[in-house]
Amino acid sequence: MGDETPQFERGSMRSLVCGAGGFIGGHMVEALKARGHWVRGVDLVPPAFSTSQADEFLCLDLRRHELVQQALSLPDGQFDRVFQFAADMGGAGYIFTGEHDANVMHNSAQINLNVLDCVAHSSNPTATRIFYSSSACIYPEYNQLDPDNPICSEESAYPANPDSEYGWEKLFSERLYASYYRNYGIAVRVARYHNIFGPLGTWQGGKEKAPAAICRKIAMLPLSGGEIDVWGDGHQTRSFLYIDDCIEATLRLMESDYLGPVNIGSEEMVTINQLVEIVSNVANKPVSIRHILDAPLGVRGRNSDNRLIRSVLNWDYSFSLHEGITRTYQWINTQLKGIQ
Ligand code: NAD
Repeated sequence: MGDETPQFERGSMRSLVCGAGGFIGGHMVEALKARGHWVRGVDLVPPAFSTSQADEFLCLDLRRHELVQQALSLPDGQFDRVFQFAADMGGAGYIFTGEHDANVMHNSAQINLNVLDCVAHSSNPTATRIFYSSSACIYPEYNQLDPDNPICSEESAYPANPDSEYGWEKLFSERLYASYYRNYGIAVRVARYHNIFGPLGTWQGGKEKAPAAICRKIAMLPLSGGEIDVWGDGHQTRSFLYIDDCIEATLRLMESDYLGPVNIGSEEMVTINQLVEIVSNVANKPVSIRHILDAPLGVRGRNSDNRLIRSVLNWDYSFSLHEGITRTYQWINTQLKGIQ
């Protein structure tokens, strides 16, 4: 971090991470540094739970075109890689209530429009490769009504009918990135993430997702256990991908010739009740569930379909849900102790 003029090592890649203050962006900065990149991180805010490892971290609002230009500008040449994670997003309590729809659509679309426009009008649009983080939320609701047999293969995205405005914006932006590839030759890579979780993710405040929320609720119980609230009847299904697997798959996609969109997720589908059971075992606390039936939920069933990514990138997830939850629970437990 710092505002000194960056010193570039000859030959090393230069990467810009948009949304570097967030969960996946923060982990990506760390992974890129470990691979020898010079990294600039940009976000509205610095990371909440750690210090950014970026060589340079700029607090910028990427909804503003001139600030995206600033984020992309270097004293010589252009970024080799841009990872676009910045978005207005959160868990079910944020994106499925309808209260944030206008901001979610406007803010995220504006960021993607700006990033692509600035790269397209740079001196060499084809020199910068851009990764875009789309979501499993683009898949049509009608294919995700049966919790035991959700359909989320890449080609099933159309006819489109995502169940949230967040999903519609992601679908629009996927098409936007594809259009800039067609018309400006910008090298884009697009992944559809399926529920990424792990340490350094939001775990309280209303934007947290199910794994973090359940870890927090169980970590707050006494050692003798107790009851927690779970949204819905708990029979809704999901799969969850541990962050290290997500980063590895993303980097593999970025360096491949495959443009996407491709699913990046786990195929270990569980019900939310089973997720609670896993966390309860990891915490070693007996837990009973009070189901909140009128809470915001999302689709009835969802699972990643990894056939395409296996064939094009030879990638598959390696962390079991139990292993990922063990690491995440320990981290959230430590965070809680820090504020008690
Ligand atoms: P996150 O909320 O932790 O990170 C997003 C970051 O974008 C935040 O730090 C936020 O401050 C930043 N941001 C928002 N508006 C901005 C603006 N105007 N200017 C600059 N920065 C801004 O989310 P995440 O979990 O790290 O997700 C990263 C990306 O992956 C998002 O695009 C998200 O939609 C996508 N995605 C995530 C998941 C998941 O399970 N985490 C699943 C599917 C897709």
